[in-house]
Amino acid sequence: MAADLDTLVRAPRAIVGGREVAVGVGIREGRITWLGSYDDQPAAELVVELADDEVLLPGLVDTHVHVNEPGRTDWEGFASASRAAAAGGVTTLLDMPLNSIPATTTLEALEQKQTVARDQVWVDVGFWGGSVPDNLAHLAPLHDAGVFGFKCFLLDSGVAEFPHLEPAQFRAALDETARLGALMLVHAEDADLIDESRAHGAVYAAFLESRPTEAEQRAIGLVVDATRASGGRAHVVHLSAAGAIPALRAARAEGVDVSVETCPHYLALDAAEVPDGATEFKCCPPIRDAANQDELWQGLAAGDIDLVVSDHSPCTPELKALATGDFGAAWGGIASLQVGLPVVWTAARDRGHGLADVVGWMATAPADRVGLVDRGRIGLGASADLCVFAPDATFQVDVARLHHRNPVTPYAGRTLTGTVRQTWLHGTPVDLAAPPRGRLIRRVGP
Ligand SMILES: [Zn+2]
Repeated sequence: MAADLDTLVRAPRAIVGGREVAVGVGIREGRITWLGSYDDQPAAELVVELADDEVLLPGLVDTHVHVNEPGRTDWEGFASASRAAAAGGVTTLLDMPLNSIPATTTLEALEQKQTVARDQVWVDVGFWGGSVPDNLAHLAPLHDAGVFGFKCFLLDSGVAEFPHLEPAQFRAALDETARLGALMLVHAEDADLIDESRAHGAVYAAFLESRPTEAEQRAIGLVVDATRASGGRAHVVHLSAAGAIPALRAARAEGVDVSVETCPHYLALDAAEVPDGATEFKCCPPIRDAANQDELWQGLAAGDIDLVVSDHSPCTPELKALATGDFGAAWGGIASLQVGLPVVWTAARDRGHGLADVVGWMATAPADRVGLVDRGRIGLGASADLCVFAPDATFQVDVARLHHRNPVTPYAGRTLTGTVRQTWLHGTPVDLAAPPRGRLIRRVGP
């Protein structure tokens, strides 16, 4: 009799439905078609047994990655980013519309990016479109072509080809994304409250003071007002300032459709430990103090912060101004795609959280927010994208073992808890020595 299943994965420990359980996961043609108790033995061509120190997780869904290709492929690229993702347990990533050239602000630019990405991705890759001052008419074609939504800035983005939206332009863009039913991602900092002149030099405290929490709070106030007025859907990317949480909570309580993410670096790194001149720690908004970090964790625990994604945003070592250590001159962005899971798990565990919490923040919630409801979970019908994780194993981050194109990361040398032993994509383990099997994906649904 032919086996019903291609593969049965037997896991003494797995995160399913928000709990840790012993489980058997049956896979057929790349999907989970059977889910039963660990002791059941359905017929399968292949049976894989996890070790006692391993936990089976769904593959992570990272909705905030800057791949930078085409145009700035010396910063990162589809091959290197997707290899890093696979090595880090991430099975779906969504690429940001900026830092590539062209930026993804027209249908032609999207198609150019898809042509470059096709056949060189080790995990599944989807795309965000960009909303800039002169491309309102391009949002509908991009939406129809399957982008997962749009990203805009409320202040200078750092690259000339991706200008920011003034408040009136932002409101007009939100009206259009509301009409389309599309999600609008917003980089929310208010330029009037930022003093760039104070950012220069190698003193981290001066850079931090140049970008106060009030800059995020005021911009998030605009996001909430404009989202309420448009009746649309917005998402605040990379929240650093915990002081904005009460306003977001109040807006959601009143029915405004606004969600928010934070990132591994805001949860794991503390301004007090950033050495002067260590520009690998520079990002915008900045890493703040320990009290702020405690409040971000409280926001996650309370459900006021929805999800945790990397905001992987690398550049070349030269642009990080490592030689001078000038925080004002350095590119703002942190590289973490391959180590995001252990970074968050190490800190989460210290604060009493379980793996189910981390899976919720880094897999299920991001998948749900972008409509990928068959990803980010171990469930019947879901894509068989999995991560075999050893939560008690420790390792030291060795930049030579990172697949990121540029070996610059604030986590270099850090000891982390939790190692990714294997990543499964579409029902079989990813083999970085074999040709890539990742697919380009598009938004599901309206
Ligand atoms: Zn970003």
